Amino acid sequence: MQNRLIISCTHCGTVYAGRVRTNGTIYPPTASKGCRCGNESFVAVDPDSVGS
Ligand SMILES: [Zn+2]
Repeated sequence: MQNRLIISCTHCGTVYAGRVRTNGTIYPPTASKGCRCGNESFVAVDPDSVGS
């Protein structure tokens, strides 16, 4: 089971609709190779804190 969540690039802060694998790995399904800036690290973001 995969859970959807909001993730943010740790480098440029771009927010994606991401998912987390059962092993805890966070990844962006729309950018499987990482962020458009080239970074491949993401952090989960509380959807309530993203705003519009
Ligand atoms: Zn980025």
